[in-house]
Amino acid sequence: MTTRRDFIASASTFAGLAFVGCDMLASRHAHAQGARRETIVAGRRAKVIDVHAHCAVPEAMALMNLKLGGPTFRPDLHMGSTLAQRLTVMDAQGIDMQVLSINPYWYKAERDLAEKLIQVQNEKLAEACGAQPDRFVAFATVALQHPDLAVRQLEEGVKKYGLRGVSIGGSVDGLELSDPKFHPFWAKAEQMGLLVFIHPQATGAQTDLGKRLKGNGYLENVIGWPVETSIALSHLIFEGTLDRFPGLKICGAHGGGYLPSYAGRLDFGCPTRPDLCPGGPYGPIKKKPSEYLAQMYYDTMVFSPEGIRHLAAEFGANQLMVGTDYPFPWTKTMVDEVMATPGLSDADRIAILGGTAAKLLGIRA
Ligand SMILES: [Zn+2]
Repeated sequence: MTTRRDFIASASTFAGLAFVGCDMLASRHAHAQGARRETIVAGRRAKVIDVHAHCAVPEAMALMNLKLGGPTFRPDLHMGSTLAQRLTVMDAQGIDMQVLSINPYWYKAERDLAEKLIQVQNEKLAEACGAQPDRFVAFATVALQHPDLAVRQLEEGVKKYGLRGVSIGGSVDGLELSDPKFHPFWAKAEQMGLLVFIHPQATGAQTDLGKRLKGNGYLENVIGWPVETSIALSHLIFEGTLDRFPGLKICGAHGGGYLPSYAGRLDFGCPTRPDLCPGGPYGPIKKKPSEYLAQMYYDTMVFSPEGIRHLAAEFGANQLMVGTDYPFPWTKTMVDEVMATPGLSDADRIAILGGTAAKLLGIRA
């Protein structure tokens, strides 16, 4: 039997070959015989789907004079040259499938450039998924700063390129996602029944908070990014976007930021200061704010079984999906954390590991 050590050695050999020009067949071969961790729940193999995994398309980045390199645009975001390494990590961590997303870097691009960039990007995403259809699907990317274009790109991304759902940032070039400008996008996502994955990007709250997040601790990310998601989801609730488009399926990255851990405060703001919420007990919205949180989905990027237990207790295990943030090395133990989460039934665990993602994204469970 091949040991883990042997397998890693052989996978890196194949990765080396791939680098000098041997193609993906090499990595496929390596993985056909490798040790792939299998997750068993109630005596049955559970499919694990990671809804928070990143990649990059250098051909699209080049249109904005960007290239891979450094800690943000990590070279291992590229699906082609580092695919064997990605599959090795997925196999070791027990991730059967990744749902690929790209953090928006194009929200300042003017229309023609944005149109070309997204077309190249979605096409390459589709190619990457098509090469390994049992391991990868991808969220469509859209130029949300041009909402009518984004609507078209969304439709094309799903119908022409077979992408599943769509990933967007937590704000768009200074505008909140609840801005009426984006209503056509939300209407289309709702009409098509697509999952919208909301992920913070560096031009959001991190930039606005500026010097407050300097100093030790990588605060621009560990605080700035969950704040960005928290602000985005709050506006979608309080500005009535979720009333206007009640069928929307939204997934908040990083466990939804801070909101799901502190949902109660959302409900008590308006009763405490009714003068700031004209029109009803919570302003013009129809339900209690935390009820909107309960209809959204969240990834499990909260780093502990207790954190996952809390999210499940607040909003239901069916609202949670595995997320790892690959290739950023935040966690290697997500499957263990879900398996160790107290109080879950077998059905809950199967749903979190991949059942819910399969349903939302049209993946065979
Ligand atoms: Zn991420």
